[in-house]
Amino acid sequence: MADSTGRYDAVIIGAGHNGLVCAFYLAQAGLKVILLERRHVVGGAAVTEEFHPGFRNSVASYTVSLLNPKIIRDLDLAAHGLTIVERKLANFLPLPDGRYLKVGQGRTRQEVSKFSSKDAARLDDYAASLERIADVLRDLALQAPPNVLAGSWRAALPELLRMARIGRGFAELPMPARRDLLQLFASSAGDVLDSWFESDPIKAVFGFDGIVGTYASPYAAGTAYVLLHHVFGEVNGKKGAWGHALGGMGAITQAMAKAATARGVEIRTNAAVSEVRVEKGRAVGVVTAAGDSIRAKAVISNLNPKLLYGSLVDQNLLDADFKGRISAWRCASGTFRMNVALSELPRFSALPEAGDHLTAGIIIAPSLSYMEKAYFDARISGWSKQPIVEMLIPSTLDDSLAPPGRHVASLFCQHAAPELPNGEPWDAHRETVADLMIDTVNAYAPNFKASLLARQVMSPLDLECTFGLIGGDIFHGAMSLDQIFSARPVLGYAQYRGPLAGLYMCGSGTHPGGGVTGAPGHNAAREVIADFKHRRFD
Ligand SMILES: Cc1cc2nc3c(=O)[nH]c(=O)nc-3n(C[C@H](O)[C@H](O)[C@H](O)COP(=O)(O)OP(=O)(O)OC[C@H]3O[C@@H](n4cnc5c(N)ncnc54)[C@H](O)[C@@H]3O)c2cc1C
Repeated sequence: MADSTGRYDAVIIGAGHNGLVCAFYLAQAGLKVILLERRHVVGGAAVTEEFHPGFRNSVASYTVSLLNPKIIRDLDLAAHGLTIVERKLANFLPLPDGRYLKVGQGRTRQEVSKFSSKDAARLDDYAASLERIADVLRDLALQAPPNVLAGSWRAALPELLRMARIGRGFAELPMPARRDLLQLFASSAGDVLDSWFESDPIKAVFGFDGIVGTYASPYAAGTAYVLLHHVFGEVNGKKGAWGHALGGMGAITQAMAKAATARGVEIRTNAAVSEVRVEKGRAVGVVTAAGDSIRAKAVISNLNPKLLYGSLVDQNLLDADFKGRISAWRCASGTFRMNVALSELPRFSALPEAGDHLTAGIIIAPSLSYMEKAYFDARISGWSKQPIVEMLIPSTLDDSLAPPGRHVASLFCQHAAPELPNGEPWDAHRETVADLMIDTVNAYAPNFKASLLARQVMSPLDLECTFGLIGGDIFHGAMSLDQIFSARPVLGYAQYRGPLAGLYMCGSGTHPGGGVTGAPGHNAAREVIADFKHRRFD
């Protein structure tokens, strides 16, 4: 389908992992594709960079699980250099009183029984109940959600059939699972976990998944769904596991770029798009910040929908309702992100010797009530004085990231308000908050502060400026019930198409949402290919 005039079939704005995946599938279908990336490197929030001489790390997203196995296979990412290894322990939760909880690798039951034998006995049932629902969601991840359409029943019929097919998946669940489903969709992570368990540490480990990248208390309705979103992944066939991409998250996107390039995709970096060109109501190409005009039959955006429709599209072309919905699109993660270079591994007071726990997601947040307080604190004063920190030390699994004997760690910190109270600028407070994060870890691992060789600090504003993540939102829009599935990003525009013909979306602001899944890119490509097959561009 390549055009002899040099015109492209598809131009993709943004080479995040979803843009790369979308490009691959389009090129595989025979389309001529160009990918334009604003930064000097492809990968978006899934990149590895040298943040201090000799020290490299996944600078934003830092751990892998959600990447869809079909996409790994289709793009043959292993052949393009990707190896994912499992953590030796899933999670480690040090406690202020000197105790600790280890989760994963067959040790959870015994560990939880240190705190509650009743909770230990309930673990298997909890896992089974979550798994039944996660299986249904896994099936949905690679499907376009039904579009809620206005107009004739004829137009609505295919969507009703699609809805019926999805409904069947849920209807096949036994009644107890349907009750669990309702609870997981409608209530909070805190309420769900309180209904299962009595001891704080295990609720904290599981509850962390409910507030990852989510600016909310774990007792806010909707956080149970966020928890569910974080358990439908797998590593090398092991459901629910989290792992590490050797070379960091950039190894994933570099492998994707190689797969796309091998199919003929043209990738240009340092090529920010400043405008989507529209003629007679149809997107016909883009203009770059450097003034280059690139025409294509389909224009596909990997950007947060708010960035696309708020900044790149002529506002006069959008109706008032759509503009209102997009401007109300909630973007807020409460995320503050740091990378540190370390002269030695942290020694936790609770468990000072080296061991598998240093390969784990180390959660500093001993209880759900601690997490709730952290959120309210941030709402009132801009950041929590006792923040939530997940620390990962990928160099314990990957010696390519730091010089011998040295280490790198990712600090994924919450809660930090996307916008500070009274219009205070983030630039004035970034280092204060970074110091607080270091002190927070140091309180549990007293050699941590002294081991610091360098640090890279990103406030929510820095995440926006560097990666285009509005409000620092790691998911391109909150994963709340009003912003998922058929309503992502706007009810009526669920299937990767927006109100302008020829303009598609393939990023995390579409179903199934954020995380390094590749699913939005995969699904969007299928819709674009279908439109080419139905000759909607002729
Ligand atoms: C701090 C942080 C931690 C995270 N941790 C994890 C994790 O551990 N595991 C996980 O699975 N997920 C994690 N996530 C979420 C995950 O990284 C994102 O949801 C995902 O990477 C988004 O991918 P995307 O391709 O949809 O968009 P993006 O990665 O945001 O890509 C969009 C691309 O568009 C480019 N762009 C923007 N404007 C323009 C323009 N005008 N012209 C051209 N290009 C443009 C951007 O530079 C970017 O490359 C994290 C995210 C962050 C920020």
